[in-house]
Amino acid sequence: SGMINFAQNNIANGAAGIQWHQDFYDAIKTPQTCSSVGYQSISSRIEAESFCGMQGIQTEPTADTGGGQNVGWIEVGDWLEYNINVPAAGNYTLNYRVASTGNTGQLQLIAPSGTLAPTTIPNTSVWQNWSSVSTTVSLSAGQQKIRLYASGAAFNFNWFQLSPASTTSSSSPQSSSSVPA
Ligand code: MG
Repeated sequence: SGMINFAQNNIANGAAGIQWHQDFYDAIKTPQTCSSVGYQSISSRIEAESFCGMQGIQTEPTADTGGGQNVGWIEVGDWLEYNINVPAAGNYTLNYRVASTGNTGQLQLIAPSGTLAPTTIPNTSVWQNWSSVSTTVSLSAGQQKIRLYASGAAFNFNWFQLSPASTTSSSSPQSSSSVPA
């Protein structure tokens, strides 16, 4: 990109008859891919706009708590990709922070461990009236690329969070008075 910047800013100085065609460069440049970026921790929220690859979406400033940006203009077949680092295999509660003026929206998480059933995005009445919807996903451990696939359209998306799902075991009931060592 340094070479491109240099050429763009200096090409006319050296040869007045040569023009920089940004459209041509945009058409042929290598798109950003997830193979060139690091892996995000899942210990906190992952912003929707922190994708490393996408198809068909745009971003805008969000009115949600915390500010930043949200993803929008989502149509069926659009997707977002993220590199994440999962500390341990298991079930995770997946929270999507979303808004929509209808009830057509759906998101599907596609991970190396499999494809999750679609999660329906609720109608929040206003494009910037935000709500959370949750589901549970089984993830494998380690660095991996996940894709959030829009199997339904027309919603805004601000962030998602993966939290270890509370485990239940009938063989070892927990006592409210016990204190883990
Ligand atoms: Mg955001």
